[in-house]
Amino acid sequence: MKEGQPQNIQRSEYTAPSHLIETTDLVVDINEDITTVKSVLKMSKNPAAESKAGSQDLVLDGGQDLETISIKVDGRELSSNEYSIEGEKLSLFDVPESFQLETSVAIKPQENTTLEGLYKSGGMFCTQCEAEGFRHITWYLDRPDVLSKFRTTVHANKKDYPILLSNGNDIERGEEGERHWVTWEDPFNKPAYLFALVAGDLECVEDQFTTMSGRDVKLQIFSEAHNIDKVGHGMTSLKNSMKWDEEAYGREYDLDIFMIVAVESFNMGAMENKGLNIFNTSCVLARPDTTTDAGYQRVEAVVGHEYFHNWSGNRVTCRDWFQLSLKEGFTVLRDQQFSAAMGSETVCRVNDVATLRAAQFPEDAGPMAHPIRPDSYIEINNFYTATVYEKGAEVVRMIRTILGENKFRLGTDLYFDRHDGQAVTTEDFVCAMEDANEINLEQFRRWYSQAGTPVVDALGEYDAEARTYTLTLAQSCPATPGQKNKQPFHMPITVGLLSSTGDDQALSITGDVIANKIRSASGEESVVLNFTQDKESFVFTDVPEAPVPSILRGFSAPVKLEYPYTRDDFMFLMSHDSDGFNRWEAGQRLAINVIQEMIANLQQAKAQPVEQSADIAVDQRLISAFASVLDQAIAAGKDPSFDRAMVAEMLILPSESYLAELMDVVDVDAIHQARERVRLEIATRLRPQLMTIYELCEGGYTYEATGSEIGRRDLRNIALSYLMQQGDDESVALCRKQFETAICMSDTAAAIRAVVNSSADAAVIVKSDLLETFYNRWENEALVIDLWFTMQAVCPLPGTLDTVKDLMAHPAFTLNNPNRLRSLIGAFAGQNNVNFHSVDGSGYEFLASQIIAVDAINPQIAARILGPLTRWGNYDTKRQALMKEQLNRILATENLSNNVFEIVSKSL
Ligand SMILES: [Zn+2]
Repeated sequence: MKEGQPQNIQRSEYTAPSHLIETTDLVVDINEDITTVKSVLKMSKNPAAESKAGSQDLVLDGGQDLETISIKVDGRELSSNEYSIEGEKLSLFDVPESFQLETSVAIKPQENTTLEGLYKSGGMFCTQCEAEGFRHITWYLDRPDVLSKFRTTVHANKKDYPILLSNGNDIERGEEGERHWVTWEDPFNKPAYLFALVAGDLECVEDQFTTMSGRDVKLQIFSEAHNIDKVGHGMTSLKNSMKWDEEAYGREYDLDIFMIVAVESFNMGAMENKGLNIFNTSCVLARPDTTTDAGYQRVEAVVGHEYFHNWSGNRVTCRDWFQLSLKEGFTVLRDQQFSAAMGSETVCRVNDVATLRAAQFPEDAGPMAHPIRPDSYIEINNFYTATVYEKGAEVVRMIRTILGENKFRLGTDLYFDRHDGQAVTTEDFVCAMEDANEINLEQFRRWYSQAGTPVVDALGEYDAEARTYTLTLAQSCPATPGQKNKQPFHMPITVGLLSSTGDDQALSITGDVIANKIRSASGEESVVLNFTQDKESFVFTDVPEAPVPSILRGFSAPVKLEYPYTRDDFMFLMSHDSDGFNRWEAGQRLAINVIQEMIANLQQAKAQPVEQSADIAVDQRLISAFASVLDQAIAAGKDPSFDRAMVAEMLILPSESYLAELMDVVDVDAIHQARERVRLEIATRLRPQLMTIYELCEGGYTYEATGSEIGRRDLRNIALSYLMQQGDDESVALCRKQFETAICMSDTAAAIRAVVNSSADAAVIVKSDLLETFYNRWENEALVIDLWFTMQAVCPLPGTLDTVKDLMAHPAFTLNNPNRLRSLIGAFAGQNNVNFHSVDGSGYEFLASQIIAVDAINPQIAARILGPLTRWGNYDTKRQALMKEQLNRILATENLSNNVFEIVSKSL
């Protein structure tokens, strides 16, 4: 149990900082035992602060891990009655209006397992300061609205740490015997969370970029020597990002140097520190034989994301952490746009939405549901959520849809110009959009304050005589913690109407409804309906025949759409909708519809006094729909312009997590059984087509990370996974051959995964052999070994929990590396629904034990892997009781961190 009640911080209680810090001068002296940090801050009272009568006190943030050596004001050492240190606060009494504060502290980064502040990863020292890590390095006003110019000198042993990095430009360096030092100066004001420091024995790949105004920027990516052959793709992605941001947003890079450092032990994906991005190795390293295509795409997206933060985050930053979505939502949208520009727009959109549905919708429906701008938190690290990031991006995307591309750009230009160098709020962002375009987004602001996933019920009515089609939309939003009743949202709903031949009809709409017509490049027509009421009707005129509506094209709002489509409608939309996203969506909905019926049949049979065998025949319309998708791909032959990535997406059934999300009471076993049954039916009925695709999509001997090559491999590997569903000797032989001859990790991993997930005799015989070969081949590649752990952890076959427990004893396993921990424990709890939710509660007990163990080492990560246990409300009473029992066991643990305490207590 926690001692005392942790403090709940409220957004409404924001007050401006009492003091400002003009300059920050740091000297960090790194040693193996004690590292000292000397800080000289030029401070003054903040004229904007609400002056508390008579108070001239200054309160600084620090950590229990700081050992304070000295405190001086204007050069004079303070005596013990002039300050006090209580827990994580240093109070200085009666400080002058402006003064120089000099503190000196000792820290032990090598003992820091939380990976916040300064810590050691392998042989190098590095930092992570967002959100509140800087206070573990020195006493400071550690809040994003205190901006300062930093100058940092790093001292360390020359032999072990030849590379010493910090933000900005290096202006001076020198040597003293076995030690050396480098001074870095950052000309831009920044909050402490953007501070970074690295000391290590690193190699570097260098390149350069000329900005649109003609300035040359030096680009460097650093990694440990054994990884330096894997930074090429990151470098290409960086240059593409820099170019794209100039073209799409008119944003140019501002320093003379941009550095990325790859770090093995890192809590997050990557961090946008000014001029010195620090990356989890998993988000920057890529080499064909060690990295899957998804890994390549992730590198491109994350490199872009962190680079784009230089403007949306660094030049314009957040006033307080409640505004996190200001930088994250906007920047995720920017990285999504970038990925779309580099690859297939439709496939990117499909993936973005699939992620939103799998990660954010459950959050919105769970005990931790919060608006994209939360109202309170105990531990800010718990709010780096899919809601703040992914839904935040959807909200900014909706503004873009409402305004249109050009007006949106006017809005972002005004936002950057008006707030450059400031710490601002989401409100400032919305105001800039309004002011640049003379539009009122008052009602739209509810997306920032209301949690929950809205449901839109749509109904269409055709009047043949009047030649009108009336589309009636009704919206509602389920209650979420602290928010019982919701006000209607302002939603852009993009709609097209299909004729019986499958063509888009010309659209005209009556009434005073604002409807922007959009004509796509290929000439199809859609309108964007501004849907603002609880219930609203939109009348289309001059409609020659009853149409099939295509609603929510491009997923124009993050909602759940209900429309009484028939299975035949879905098949029609799948083959005719001009909107690629809705074509995919129709296929997904058809599959959901079919699987849900099978689930209901399974449950009914089970509920009989004597369990009966259920009718779980698969609706053959789904099989024909899949057949025609495959036939199209076969007809395209080897035509390189054919979008195989999209076909691959169409062939993937909705995930078990998303199917679970759609059920009131989740039945993990029935979901798994029904979905597997459909997979088997597809595999059996369509074997010839799948085999043809597999052969047709065979590649050459060189690896290319292009969209068309990735699409080819995706499609081929999906065909393989279906073929293996039957577990026959021929398919196992195909997997084996692919495993042995693959030239890239996507193909290697797909082959071994298909075997690992199969219970067929032929697969069982070769499984351990393949796993062993794989391990031995990649023993020294940490990221590949992560993959090796994950593929075993997510296997849906019985007995996987025992495998996971055995793997924890494997010499390559450690709780201290977040990637490794996530690859086994996180993957098991988060992706292996059937085994984690085993009705004997063993999965829950296992996760709870791991959370308790990890919390003592790294609270941030413990809190992150906790998610699956908190969603007990969606399960049957037996599982609910088992999950709550484990949550209570965690809560009863001594010295629980605020991170875990907040999530567990809120979820109970
Ligand atoms: Zn970010």
